[in-house]
Amino acid sequence: MSRLDTDKYRELLLAAEAETVAEIEQLGDGITALVDAAHNSNHDDEHDPEGVTIAFERSQSDALLTQSTQRLSEVRAALARIDDGTYGDCEVCGKSVGWERLTVRPFARTCIEHAPA
Ligand SMILES: [Zn+2]
Repeated sequence: MSRLDTDKYRELLLAAEAETVAEIEQLGDGITALVDAAHNSNHDDEHDPEGVTIAFERSQSDALLTQSTQRLSEVRAALARIDDGTYGDCEVCGKSVGWERLTVRPFARTCIEHAPA
């Protein structure tokens, strides 16, 4: 098996890391603003359309934040795999994940066959 050009993927991962960190900061700011907005609005969510909207936006932002945080840890784990030389190997079968897949998903841990559903 030919070794992957890990420098290229390291660059992709570092870009993804920076992007995700910025995203998390932005979401955090958004959530802070929503929390403030919720404090300033009527606390009676059921009868206050604005309160419902804020609660909805809050749950959306929380979900996105969870996703981004998860992606960040995937990206960092992938960078660690580059360092220990296991990057690009499927976690399940040990075969190559494939450069096409890594280009789209540089933090993929498994080959397409063993990708979690
Ligand atoms: Zn596999």
